[in-house]
Amino acid sequence: MLDSPDSAQRLLQQLRFPCGDVPAPGDIKQVARGVHWLRMPLPFQLNHINLWMIEEVDGWTIVDTGINAAATKELWEKIFADKLAGKPVTRVVATHLHPDHVGLAGWLCERWNAPLLMTLGDYMSALAIRNEISDSDEQRQTHLVRNGVPAERIALFHRHRGGYAKGVTPLPAAFQRLIHAHPITLGGHRWDVIVGRGHAPEHASLWCPELNVLIAGDQVLPKISTNVGVWPNEPFADSLTWFLDSFSRFRRLPADALVLPSHGFPFIGLHTRLDQLVAHHDDRLNDIAQAMTRAGAAGVTGWDMVPVLFPRHLDNNQIVFAFSETLAHLHCLETRARARRTIVDGVHRFVALVDPALGAGPDDAIEMMDTGTA
Ligand SMILES: [Zn+2]
Repeated sequence: MLDSPDSAQRLLQQLRFPCGDVPAPGDIKQVARGVHWLRMPLPFQLNHINLWMIEEVDGWTIVDTGINAAATKELWEKIFADKLAGKPVTRVVATHLHPDHVGLAGWLCERWNAPLLMTLGDYMSALAIRNEISDSDEQRQTHLVRNGVPAERIALFHRHRGGYAKGVTPLPAAFQRLIHAHPITLGGHRWDVIVGRGHAPEHASLWCPELNVLIAGDQVLPKISTNVGVWPNEPFADSLTWFLDSFSRFRRLPADALVLPSHGFPFIGLHTRLDQLVAHHDDRLNDIAQAMTRAGAAGVTGWDMVPVLFPRHLDNNQIVFAFSETLAHLHCLETRARARRTIVDGVHRFVALVDPALGAGPDDAIEMMDTGTA
């Protein structure tokens, strides 16, 4: 989600962006000792991803891979030809399971005979999704009907299926596990693994105290807010609560850490950005709570609340992510005892428990969905 242009600009001005211009396609740019930034295109509204290469004594570690597409592979080949200083790729790290991050992991690992490092949750989930055993049409149907999606819109959500395997080459049959708080060594420095939940099952960010650098992945982005959704295979997930709870793990880091996000520009202002994101979600929660209150005892369904969170036209892809994000907000309100779930004819309806008008101010922000890939 993006805030309105004015508000987004104001928030961005509270951060510092010390790394200058984006590296050209096929080029890499050093942003900290031994840590290099590169960009790959994405065929979505969110049109790019930042990847990182860390120079080792005897090779290179790649952090995130780009999506499986001919253009990405071509750019990788150009980098291999021009930028590796004669050294091989020795490891591939994927922060999480989304196609823009893990899409070419299998290809890279095979090409360089390099191991893949991921959390257990994301490696196993990626395998399950890629092999289409992570949910079923019946389960998805149940989830959608339960949350008020009208019959004529359900096909949209089924069509969404199957895209993952296109964007992700077959994963290596083995991996090395990243575990929260268990450090790894990259480029001769200690990097702590920080696991966050809510965006992906076990999203790994990497923190290097010595360099004062955080490879944030999608966990903390400078401009857009990370997609936090509830999906059919975990229909009662409290993703937004989990996502916001993860912030405590990042608040311990220094305020002047250089944050390397997967989308947008490297920035300084980690704590400020976390505060902005908390405020953003509080505003959205208040918007929904107010709409729930207006609905009275009848309550609202997840589907009813999509236009409240996203009051603009959404394309077919965006609506799938918007719906999942809306459910995450409703589940968070339930956890915060601001909503009560009732079941009427098999449909789950959320009824307001507290008058939100008491704390919420006017809000004219225009919500924008920035694809669902972040
Ligand atoms: Zn992601």
